[in-house]
Amino acid sequence: MAARGVAIVGGGPAGCSAALHCSQLGIPVVLFESRDRYREKPCGDALVASAVALIQRFGLGQEELFSLGGRPFNEIRFGRVESAGAHRSSPHPGGWVVPRAALDQALRDVVSRTCEVRYSSAVAELFPNGSGVSVKVSQSDGMGEHFRAAIIASGAASRLSKSLGIDGAPTQGVAFRGYVEGVQHRNSLLVELTSNPTMEYRWEFPIDASANVGACLLGFSIGESKGTAVAGLKSLVAGFGITKFSGGVEPLWSGNGRRWHHASGIVSCGDCAGIVDPITGEGITAALMSGEMAAFAVASYMENRDIITLERFSMRIGETFSAKYTAQKDIVSSMLASLE
Ligand SMILES: Cc1cc2nc3c(=O)[nH]c(=O)nc-3n(C[C@H](O)[C@H](O)[C@H](O)COP(=O)(O)OP(=O)(O)OC[C@H]3O[C@@H](n4cnc5c(N)ncnc54)[C@H](O)[C@@H]3O)c2cc1C
Repeated sequence: MAARGVAIVGGGPAGCSAALHCSQLGIPVVLFESRDRYREKPCGDALVASAVALIQRFGLGQEELFSLGGRPFNEIRFGRVESAGAHRSSPHPGGWVVPRAALDQALRDVVSRTCEVRYSSAVAELFPNGSGVSVKVSQSDGMGEHFRAAIIASGAASRLSKSLGIDGAPTQGVAFRGYVEGVQHRNSLLVELTSNPTMEYRWEFPIDASANVGACLLGFSIGESKGTAVAGLKSLVAGFGITKFSGGVEPLWSGNGRRWHHASGIVSCGDCAGIVDPITGEGITAALMSGEMAAFAVASYMENRDIITLERFSMRIGETFSAKYTAQKDIVSSMLASLE
């Protein structure tokens, strides 16, 4: 059977960005999404300005974000948990808080105009063959379906990228969130840090009369007790009366990753490539950016099957996100110094 265009595994922001840009480059795409439409995604729902700009490429502007139930913010207030009430406002270009289930579905709806999107299709195996990549959704798939290249964008559960050694060798963070009702709407996000030397904070991100409330510990090591970390985070937001928490591990940028490609024409992007901001836990910008970069890499690779194009992709991921997160560290350090 002749190999098809590109298989994209995962229909979150990274996979949708890869799909959008592949189809704009004229490459036929099949996007495999393990869940059904409108799946819930544990997230703070905050889109910083860089993410909002990248989402506009899907044709989703302010009006569309508003109709998805999103609300804009124009300020982030910072403080310490122990000195609740004493907050500083940090200069910020603003952004949006948009419920992820609605946002991700809107991204998939846009890409489904030009790509084949298959729901309830969890990719079980991805393996190189002589002329590209075979994709197996279930064990009964025989030899699987053949593609000329593949992009893995399967999120924090990075089994596929890990098995190929292209998960970016991340460090681990852990984050949880819930929703609370009856919040007085403000146009500002609230972030309160603990005194833990590892970055740990709780947030309150308002959307109309409700708010997304959660907490994260960035730099969590699996060697420590995950249970203790999770219990600590839940106690940080205990006062909000959240009845249902969702969350899990965040694969944070470690700086130790070297390869985000496999020689058979497979690249990784988004959380499964370990590129979440290690200082803030923000991952949507990186997912959208790296999805776009993956699309360009695969497009060049499919022209001449030259592995150098994939090696350049890995180099660019390394350089781009090292520079981005070094700059971010400086910004956050000066913000923290202003709280002392
Ligand atoms: C509690 C919490 C709060 C957060 N808050 C924020 C925030 O406020 N702002 C921010 O920018 N970032 C935040 N993040 C990080 C952000 O959610 C992620 O960085 C972002 O979702 C990454 O996008 P992605 O496309 O790489 O992965 P995902 O959004 O996880 O998408 C991966 C997709 O792949 C699918 N999939 C998985 N395995 C397979 C498979 N085998 N076959 C087919 N499909 C598969 C999944 O169903 C999913 O749809 C938060 C994370 C957590 C845990």
